[in-house]
Amino acid sequence: MRIDLHVHSHASDGHLAPAAVVAAAAAGGLHVLALADHDTVAGVAEAQAAGPAAGVRVISAIEVTARHGAAEVHVLGYHVDPAAAALRDHEARSAHRRTDRMRRMVERLNEQGVPVTWDEVIRAAGPEAASLGRPHLARALMAAGHVRSFSEAFDRWLRDGGSAFVDTQFPSVEEAIALIHDAGGLAVWAHPPLDAFDGCIRPFAEWGLDGVEVWRPATLPADAQRMLAATRALGLFPTGGSDWHGPHRGPLGDFHVREEWVREVLDARPWSPRPTRAG
Ligand code: AMP
Ligand code: ZN
Ligand code: FE
Ligand code: FE
Repeated sequence: MRIDLHVHSHASDGHLAPAAVVAAAAAGGLHVLALADHDTVAGVAEAQAAGPAAGVRVISAIEVTARHGAAEVHVLGYHVDPAAAALRDHEARSAHRRTDRMRRMVERLNEQGVPVTWDEVIRAAGPEAASLGRPHLARALMAAGHVRSFSEAFDRWLRDGGSAFVDTQFPSVEEAIALIHDAGGLAVWAHPPLDAFDGCIRPFAEWGLDGVEVWRPATLPADAQRMLAATRALGLFPTGGSDWHGPHRGPLGDFHVREEWVREVLDARPWSPRPTRAG
């Protein structure tokens, strides 16, 4: 069985509609897919509706943006109930903050002599984007010819701490975990940076973290082994996913994890109430 537990659609900064993501998953030989858009579950219903005909099990998920000190930490929520009040609140707050922040990033670029406009960003994001992010701004900069590549936009202006980067009031990691639990989900640390892993994994576990995204396309086997051991030692489970955003970096399904590696997520009951362990 081929599984990918971290995929984006155009509900956030992915390129394809949720149903098209499911079609791409089927074409790529995947049997299970978790749709985990940034701070929104707006694409989940469409993906789940497309699942049965395509022969793909679609797991309801979200990728919550959180703050930990100066760093951005992403927390995946698996099996969240898209209708949960806690999620709805988070989505609304986050959409508002992201819109506000995008306006300020556009202003900063304009102040630096880069004439990108709000309309160009909205056009780059597409009509379905429920969650505006820096990748949309990078695409607008590319479309208008201000940079030659996506990464040039980040290198010149948008990277964390860059001259057009604007911070947002994201929830703390502890709050993100609690939010996912309130929505009936399992909380998993997405793409943990190796240099932060050892220092953060214990506090995150104390806050109720359930799992760690151990397997990713770029992770070296030795690093995955080390993270897996630390994850298991704390009583947490491992997960894996590609963080696929669209076909431009290769077909969905090229990267996948196996059933026996991610049992805990596959076997979890969707939307069962899950009290937070922290506190
Ligand atoms: P946001 O949620 O608006 O802060 O945007 C975060 C997203 O921007 C991440 O999920 C990445 O997809 C992308 N991103 C962040 N930093 C970089 C970078 N240095 N180069 C390319 N993409 C990046
Ligand atoms: Zn993204
Ligand atoms: Fe992420
Ligand atoms: Fe992601």
